[in-house]
Amino acid sequence: MKTILITGGGRGIGAACARLAAQRGYAVAINYQSNRAAADAVAAEIRAAGGRAITIAADVSDETAVERMFARVDEEFGHLDALVNNAGIVDRAARVEDMTAARIDRMMRVNVTGAFLCAREAVRRMSKARGGQGGAIVNISSKAALLGSPNSYVDYAASKAAVETLTIGLAAETARDGIRVNALRPGLIDTEIHAVMGIPDRVARMGPSIPMGRAGTPEEVAQGVLWLLSDEAAYVTGTFLDVTGGR
Ligand code: NAP
Repeated sequence: MKTILITGGGRGIGAACARLAAQRGYAVAINYQSNRAAADAVAAEIRAAGGRAITIAADVSDETAVERMFARVDEEFGHLDALVNNAGIVDRAARVEDMTAARIDRMMRVNVTGAFLCAREAVRRMSKARGGQGGAIVNISSKAALLGSPNSYVDYAASKAAVETLTIGLAAETARDGIRVNALRPGLIDTEIHAVMGIPDRVARMGPSIPMGRAGTPEEVAQGVLWLLSDEAAYVTGTFLDVTGGR
């Protein structure tokens, strides 16, 4: 059975990836930080449909916690075929001139260091050069990486640009070790993340300005993620898939 670890898999885009991965036959490890109930609910749904799922608490920015999380995957599944680096945070809308070092550090720790640490642990297990069977990694970036997100969260946009550079470098570094590394850029997707910015109606307000006239759904993002992970994308690495409704 193919296995997958999805960080931040209890809610939003990560939860949609977990459900679709289970439908495609993966045993799914659902990581969460603090919302255990949400992660357990997704796992229960997968098991009720006949699939295999576990939940693992870990803050992806904490190296020891990440190592423990992957050790748990080893124990439960024995091997790892796929990683979705999905866990990510935003902060309240602000201009750069008003950002504290603490805010910027937290953004980088979760969105950048977290993605690096999980990718590192995945590569150590997947790499054919280290006795692994190969695998695939999808990093969840954002269209913000290209737009810069002025007056909202330039720190977040910059963290996603770093995730994109990680994608390019790691893909080239591990291509001959049987690992593919790609990134997906969601546009405006209808999840709870927007409330954290202090703009809970952001999706309703901004949807009409998108070429397709609406925000995307987590399920539409998951379709792209699962394609990038699949054998259908066997010759695709180091690249980016925009799932943005045309913007
Ligand atoms: P969401 O609904 O707010 O869910 C975020 C998930 O990340 C939650 O499961 C949360 O865990 C987890 N998480 C946060 N910090 C974590 C940490 N330190 N360690 C482990 N898990 C952590 O967000 P979303 O909208 O689905 O976003 C998912 C990804 O897509 C993010 O990387 C985001 O930047 C990206 N993205 C989203 C949009 C959008 O419009 N929604 C657009 C572009 C890119 P808990 O459940 O335990 O809190």
